[in-house]
Amino acid sequence: MARGKRYDYGDCHVCGGAMVEKNVAQDLWVRGKLIVIEDVPAGVCTQCGERVVKADVGRGLAVIVEGSTRTKAARTLHVPVIKYRKVA
Ligand SMILES: [Zn+2]
Repeated sequence: MARGKRYDYGDCHVCGGAMVEKNVAQDLWVRGKLIVIEDVPAGVCTQCGERVVKADVGRGLAVIVEGSTRTKAARTLHVPVIKYRKVA
C-alpha cells in the first residue's frame, strides 16, 4: 500500500485524537461464541485506543464469520473468563 494514499479515518469520535491505521486482532461475539480475527486493518486512536473499521473491512469480517468452514478450521484460543464483581 502506498503511503499517503491511506484511508483517512478522520479524528477519533470519542476523544478527537488522531487515528492511525494498524492491523489489530478484532474480537467479535457471534451467536454466543467469541471469534478473534487477526490482522484486521483498522483505524486506532493514538490517545484512547478507540477502533474503527472501514465499511468494506466490516463486510469482509461478516463474510469471514459466516464462512463456517473457515471458522471450524481455525485454531482455538483459550481465554480466562472472569465474572465481574464490584471492587470496593
Ligand atoms: Zn480517541
